[in-house]
Amino acid sequence: VERKKRAAAVIEDVERNLATPTALLRSIADAMVVEMERGLRGDIHACLKMLISYVDNLPTGDEHGLFYALDLGGTNFRVLRVQLGGREKRVVKQQYDEVSIPPHLMVGTSMELFDFIAAALAKFVDTEGDDFHLPEGRQRELGFTFSFPVHQTSISSGTLIKWTKGFSINGAVGEDVVGELSRAMERQGLDMKVTALVNDTVGTLAGGRYMDNDVVAAVILGTGTNAAYVEHANAIPKWTGLLPRSGNMVINTEWGSFKSDKLPLSEYDKAMDFESLNPGEQIYEKMISGMYLGEIVRRILLKLAHDASLFGDVVPPKLEQPFILRTPDMSAMHHDSSHDLKILGAKLKDIVGVADTSLEVRYITRHICDIVAERGARLAAAGIYSILKKIGRDKVPSDGSKLPRTVVALDGGLYEHYKKFSSCLEATLQDLLGEEASSSVVAKLANDGSGIGAALLAASHSQYG
Ligand code: ADP
Ligand code: MG
Repeated sequence: VERKKRAAAVIEDVERNLATPTALLRSIADAMVVEMERGLRGDIHACLKMLISYVDNLPTGDEHGLFYALDLGGTNFRVLRVQLGGREKRVVKQQYDEVSIPPHLMVGTSMELFDFIAAALAKFVDTEGDDFHLPEGRQRELGFTFSFPVHQTSISSGTLIKWTKGFSINGAVGEDVVGELSRAMERQGLDMKVTALVNDTVGTLAGGRYMDNDVVAAVILGTGTNAAYVEHANAIPKWTGLLPRSGNMVINTEWGSFKSDKLPLSEYDKAMDFESLNPGEQIYEKMISGMYLGEIVRRILLKLAHDASLFGDVVPPKLEQPFILRTPDMSAMHHDSSHDLKILGAKLKDIVGVADTSLEVRYITRHICDIVAERGARLAAAGIYSILKKIGRDKVPSDGSKLPRTVVALDGGLYEHYKKFSSCLEATLQDLLGEEASSSVVAKLANDGSGIGAALLAASHSQYG
């Protein structure tokens, strides 16, 4: 009985500290709009960097030819080639390959990392079949999706601002990532030119627009989280170049680094942040994205094990191990709807090493998954809502006209595979928008849109015009 009381006290505390009532989400969205404006002004203290992508035109559908793309930014990297057939034939053929990055390369030297990538790319190019056509005498061209904050200096160059998501490589910050990739390709004897360097959010936005003309923003919910959207060029005070003819500029918000005292930051978040590779940074990302959700659940379960002997008299040693509980496992536990929570029980046995958990312990575990996933999904919805506010697509115009159809392209393993997360996000967004506006706003899965998007941007920025 004493144990139960202590467990109930911890759970109550977690519920209270991770709560995201709608009113709070609205004030978080307002704070985010303020930070977006600061970032667009170039205020160095803004927590949203609002990076200029140099993409002032999104794909039109006319792109044609053979293009490659390479996507680096998480646990896997992907290579892709696509034969574009213009307005009529669209994507004639595409092929891709996925390679996981050996963990030691994520914390090694940048030369090793880029050599590994270039070697895999060269191998992939070798398998190009006859159904792909490169005109005589032309160099192959590549769109490079690089999902870390980059200070772009043109559409095809930029320097790394910082690593995130478990990457930490000495000496790469401040370097031109296209230069590093190009030199590694040369070392491999691979003749290929990088014509577009894009963030994965920008790639997803481009790929999304190619599929649906009403796409105005793209959001990634995978290992990390980020968003990009189409901004009016004249709403970017820090842009000192000529105004683009389109009047638009795609902005990479880097919203993962959003921070605000309005965010429901618990003791578990603070401890995880403190022990992370990048303490004090990416606070919003650490509350939302796939790299961290399972770890937050683990920390809460550990507290329950310590304070309320949730898994028996001894705290299971495996539960003490950071990142042992991965978000896909959390998702599997959360979705267990069997009457005896059999799957969840088996997962606890596998991961934590406790064989016979009571039904009550299983319910508690599922409840914790629910609280952590719900907070992440609701905070992500608040972020999307803030972008819609920023571009005036959050409500029906006051002049009585209709809100134009507004599509947000979403991608990333978390959004794609964690059903309870994605449905909570969508329901929350509807709630924030209200009935009328939400009937014009669509959240749409753009599966691997960033790869094709990068290839499309490589095409529209081809050296052969
Ligand atoms: P990345 O973000 O690394 O580029 P993805 O978009 O494929 O790659 O996202 C991978 C991330 O998605 C994983 O790190 C994991 O956190 C999350 N994820 C993958 N599968 C699932 C799943 N079934 N349930 C919940 N999260 C998942
Ligand atoms: Mg990705």
